[in-house]
Amino acid sequence: MKNYMKLEFSALSENEPFARNAVAAFCLGLNPTLDELSDVKTAVSEAVTNCIVHAYRGGEGSVCIECETEGCAVHITVSDRGRGIEDVGKALEPFFTTAEGDERSGMGFTIMQTFMTDFGVESEAGGGTRVRMSKYFGRNSCAEVANVK
Ligand code: ATP
Ligand code: MG
Repeated sequence: MKNYMKLEFSALSENEPFARNAVAAFCLGLNPTLDELSDVKTAVSEAVTNCIVHAYRGGEGSVCIECETEGCAVHITVSDRGRGIEDVGKALEPFFTTAEGDERSGMGFTIMQTFMTDFGVESEAGGGTRVRMSKYFGRNSCAEVANVK
C-alpha cells in the first residue's frame, strides 16, 4: 500500500534537523540500510538548507516536504515559495553558487543528484522552487515489511 506524508514548517535553520529526521523516520517503513537512510537525510538536508538560505535569504517563509512510497522507493518533494532560480541549468553545475561570500561551495545540488536515485528541479525567478528526488531501497524485504505493518 502507498504511504504518504506532508510537512510544512517555517524556513528556520533550527528546523533543518527536524525535517531530515522526520523524513528518515517516514522511510523506516521501507526497511532501508543505514547507508541508504544517511543518503536520504543528506539530500533532504541540502534541499531544505537551500530553501532557508537562498529562497528566503533568512527572511520569513515556509518549506513544504511531501513524501510518498511506491514499492521499495520513496519519492520526496521539497518546495518553497521564495525567489526562485533564474537559470536552473547553471545552478545544477558543480561549484556554482550565488553565495560565495557565505562560504557556500555550490555542491548542494550535486550532492542531491549523487545520493539519490532520481532527481529534478523546477523553478522560475519569483515563482519558488520544487526539488523532486527519489530513492530506491535495495533490500528485497522492504515490500514484505511494508505489508506487515
Ligand atoms: P552549498 O549547497 O554547497 O552550501 P549552494 O547552496 O550555493 O552551496 P547548491 O545547493 O548547489 O549550492 O545551489 C546552487 C545555487 O542554486 C545556489 O547558490 C542558489 O543560487 C540556487 N538555489 C538553490 N536552491 C535554491 C532555492 N530553493 N531557491 C532559490 N535559489 C536556489
Ligand atoms: Mg546548497
